[in-house]
Amino acid sequence: MRRIRSANTRPELAVRSCAHRCGYRFGLRPTDLPGKPDLVFRSRKAVIFVHGCFWHQHGTCIDGSRIPKTNRKYWSEKLRRNKRRDARVIRKLKSLGWKVLIVWECQAVSGTQLASRLRRFFGS
Ligand SMILES: [Zn+2]
Repeated sequence: MRRIRSANTRPELAVRSCAHRCGYRFGLRPTDLPGKPDLVFRSRKAVIFVHGCFWHQHGTCIDGSRIPKTNRKYWSEKLRRNKRRDARVIRKLKSLGWKVLIVWECQAVSGTQLASRLRRFFGS
C-alpha cells in the first residue's frame, strides 16, 4: 500500500512535469511551510498538494471512499485524522496568504486536464 508522504509517487511526478512544461518554477516539500506541500511556487505564493485518494479520503472516487474490511475501526479513525489534519494545514496556509491547490491522484492522469487546472489556479 502507498505510504502517506512517500516522495516521488507517480501522480506527483505527473503534476511536476506538467507544471514544468507549463513553465512554472517550483520547489519541493518546503520544510518551512505547514504540511510540507509537495510543490511550492514561491514567486506566486502558491502551493500544491498531490493527495493519494485512499490516504486522504477523496470522497468522490472509489479509492477514496474505501475503508479496509479488517480493522475497520482503526482505519476509519486513522483516515479521519488524516482528513482533519489536511483541513487544518490548508486553513493555516490560507491564513498565511498562500493559495492552495489539491490535486487528487485520480485527477493526475490526463496531462491536458492537469495543465488547464494549473493555468486556472495561477490565473494565466
Ligand atoms: Zn480520487
